[in-house]
Amino acid sequence: MKLFGSSGIRGIVNKEVTPELALQVGLVLGSRKKTAVIGRDPRVSAPMIEHALVAGLTAAGCDVTKVGMVTTPTLAYAARKYECGVMVTASHNPSEYVGIKLWNPDGMAFDSAQQEEIEEAIEKENFSRVTWDLIGKITEDQNAIRDHMDMIKGLVGNSKLRVVLDCGCGAGSTITPYLLQELGCQIITLNSQPDGHFPARNPEPNDQNLSLLKKAVVAFEADLGIAHDGDADRMMAVDEKGDFVSGDELLAIFGRFECGGEKGAVVVPVDTSMMVGDYLEGSKIIRTRVGDVYVAEGIKQCGAIYGGEPSGSWIFPKISYCPDGIYAAAKLVEIVREKKLSELRAELPVYATKRGALPCPNEKKAEFMEKAKATLEPLGTVLDIDGIRVELENGWVLVRPSGTEAKVRITAEARENVDGIYEMAEKIVREALK
Ligand code: MG
Repeated sequence: MKLFGSSGIRGIVNKEVTPELALQVGLVLGSRKKTAVIGRDPRVSAPMIEHALVAGLTAAGCDVTKVGMVTTPTLAYAARKYECGVMVTASHNPSEYVGIKLWNPDGMAFDSAQQEEIEEAIEKENFSRVTWDLIGKITEDQNAIRDHMDMIKGLVGNSKLRVVLDCGCGAGSTITPYLLQELGCQIITLNSQPDGHFPARNPEPNDQNLSLLKKAVVAFEADLGIAHDGDADRMMAVDEKGDFVSGDELLAIFGRFECGGEKGAVVVPVDTSMMVGDYLEGSKIIRTRVGDVYVAEGIKQCGAIYGGEPSGSWIFPKISYCPDGIYAAAKLVEIVREKKLSELRAELPVYATKRGALPCPNEKKAEFMEKAKATLEPLGTVLDIDGIRVELENGWVLVRPSGTEAKVRITAEARENVDGIYEMAEKIVREALK
């Protein structure tokens, strides 16, 4: 039984993710851990799922501390004082979704082995209920947000910038406006009242969903705009001209400041622009599968200074292995204090990218990838951890089966002639699909 994806358990509430399932997750987890901390995002369904989890955890004898509505990085940071953390969130998914994500004390999400252990235990009902006198205690901690803010304030300097902040009515509303204000900024908030109906915009902080923020930054003559997803592990930005800053650009800008001239390792997913490596000249770029969990695992394995996922997840291992959109927001403001965001962007190399897809039935994907690999291998250095990425002299190409659709995706990036590289890759893919 597959319950967990790369972002924990996630699905439509009362269909895929039910109180019964949450109760079982609680029973299984509570049978293995003595203490847990639990938080939730503003979703309408989150308190219901939270209550079921707490019932399961305590029935198995685990003491539970509730921190209420918080961001995912706040919960992951709070988990350091417990044996595990539990976050009820569906991140950037729309209102009808809910999810459960489990955390280790070091801020690392449960890895695949830990998730499989939980799945197997649920299937085999491998959990125990304790007698009345051993039922877990339930307490509340009102200080989780304050602790998280204080940790960040200890690491990031003050700035007096004018910032427009769009929390998308998500959990970021509970912390980022207050933190940036305490750091000296003048804050103009948009959609910063938590509301699980997400009335203002889709919670995903991408270019098309941030049109209001882009206009507001220009209208208020702000220095920058910042946006979160529903649980604020992600952060994206808009420069002072009202232009959306791409994930690759933010990845490179944070990388430059985190490495601070050191030649450390930086971890990125396979589909990240080679611009990042060129800009962070001297740093070792380590590539992982696509997904912030894999980036976090990569950072831990090789002791990297920093890593990120261009969808908006920035991981600073000195504070936590959990992507922290709040720390990232404070850090970006500190960076922009010295130089305008548009000027920082202008320093970055720009390469052409071309993306496309060809139809491929799901059952044929494995066979196709074998064939494609054999043809692509002689062209350059191949990395096949997630699709097939071929490093060419003047660029790279990635052939990757879609996780959700019956398609194979092709991405090409090049310093010159991206069309030529893309067409060559597409020809190979067409052949392999025959
Ligand atoms: Mg998220």
